[in-house]
Amino acid sequence: MAPHTLPTSSPYVIVGAGIHGLSTALHLARELRSRGLGSGSDIVVLEKSEPGAGASGIACGVVRNNYFQPAMSELMQACVEVWESDPAAYHYNGVGYIALGPEVQESDLVATYERQERIGYSSSLITGEREVDAHMKALFPDWRAKGVTICLHEHQGGFAFNRDSVRGLLGKAEAEGVQVLTGVTVTSFDFGADGSVAAIVTDSGRIAVGEQVVVAPGPWAKGFWRMLGLPDRIDVRTPSGDVVEDRPMWTYWNLQEGEISVDPGMFATADGGAPPVIHLDTDAPLHTDDGDIVTDELWGIYYKRDRHGVQGGAAPLTVEGDVELDPYPSTTDIDPSFPDMWCAALSHAMSRFEGCRANYRTARSGGVGAFTVDNFPVFDYMRPNVYTVLDSNHGYKMIGVGREVAKVLVGEHSSLLYPFRFERFASGDLHPVSNSPYPWS
Ligand SMILES: Cc1cc2nc3c(=O)[nH]c(=O)nc-3n(C[C@H](O)[C@H](O)[C@H](O)COP(=O)(O)OP(=O)(O)OC[C@H]3O[C@@H](n4cnc5c(N)ncnc54)[C@H](O)[C@@H]3O)c2cc1C
Repeated sequence: MAPHTLPTSSPYVIVGAGIHGLSTALHLARELRSRGLGSGSDIVVLEKSEPGAGASGIACGVVRNNYFQPAMSELMQACVEVWESDPAAYHYNGVGYIALGPEVQESDLVATYERQERIGYSSSLITGEREVDAHMKALFPDWRAKGVTICLHEHQGGFAFNRDSVRGLLGKAEAEGVQVLTGVTVTSFDFGADGSVAAIVTDSGRIAVGEQVVVAPGPWAKGFWRMLGLPDRIDVRTPSGDVVEDRPMWTYWNLQEGEISVDPGMFATADGGAPPVIHLDTDAPLHTDDGDIVTDELWGIYYKRDRHGVQGGAAPLTVEGDVELDPYPSTTDIDPSFPDMWCAALSHAMSRFEGCRANYRTARSGGVGAFTVDNFPVFDYMRPNVYTVLDSNHGYKMIGVGREVAKVLVGEHSSLLYPFRFERFASGDLHPVSNSPYPWS
């Protein structure tokens, strides 16, 4: 990483040093080199704070393919390939991922599993309350969750350590000659006559753009959308042909996450192995360990073994209107009842977590995410030479998006990114909607 001595120009400028900006930088450097078109020294990354200062550095780090939408599932398969390509550098733990759901989610999970089989993503499907219980008890003898009738056990995926994987990408990008300039805030764009960005204006000076710009700002998407002169509100054509008018392009959700301080070894499989990431949704009534009712409606949590305990979260909260994002993510506004709910849910799942509320720790977990109008990413050129990587908060797991973006930047078509073009809102070519309570499934 270099202190911010801004060059006067660069062929490629990438804004944001999160998972997407750095993955794009790394893979673009490789594309340029292998095609004899240049090298990493043709790329500058501008970062207002430091690499991993945004959502990538706070993400729970779950890597899964459990997506009902075909395009998401296929893209995720490519992303897992990148994670698996260098687990050491990316601090990736391929422990697998288990999604458990009640009856209402059965058809979604069956469809997801069948697609995974077709595309060659390794997973198993277990159906029936007794069968699911037996599958989970074989892994965790104290499993006791109720109301679960289906289980998708992905044998690939798992989780990665957020800041470490960002550092891994950074090291690889810099080894290719990419310059990552920190402490440089982009404030506006200078446009040419054809609407291209001619130069990027920052608080440290102006940098002329030789070829292309990539904008990968994570939660700061709305601000960049405006800087690019794009509309705050849009009309959305639904697959039925109806047009929903004047929808806000960007909304915010608060992700609620927390952790308990326990010996990580207490969360292991029956044979002492590393546990898969668990995502449990159920409509069984949820009680605290003291017997107080928490909810009798559909609820869900996810959790994973972490370095100092167990970390995870629950369904996010919508945020009304705009949020002040800086300093990120200290503006996080977690529901005061979240620790009770999450700990009760852990205990509902496995008796080893009984009484874990006493170990709940307020940690640097949780944060705000920016979501598009349909809650799916926009990966597209939004100006003739500006490619935007706006992942709608899906994307720490999407480390492979940068590899696809790099191909597009050198002129190739990416069939994996094509379903995420902005034009879908006008054409009605939207992604199918699942029965999950989460905005990212
Ligand atoms: C609490 C939480 C938990 C999550 N858990 C998961 C998970 O388990 N799995 C998963 O797949 N996804 C998860 N996500 C989503 C995931 O973290 C994001 O989708 C992803 O990290 C976005 O990556 P990014 O590179 O686009 O953005 P970021 O990592 O946010 O990077 C953007 C960078 O741009 C910089 N920047 C912003 N404005 C400017 C400016 N004006 N000038 C210069 N630089 C600027 C920022 O400082 C930042 O470093 C989670 C998100 C949150 C908030």
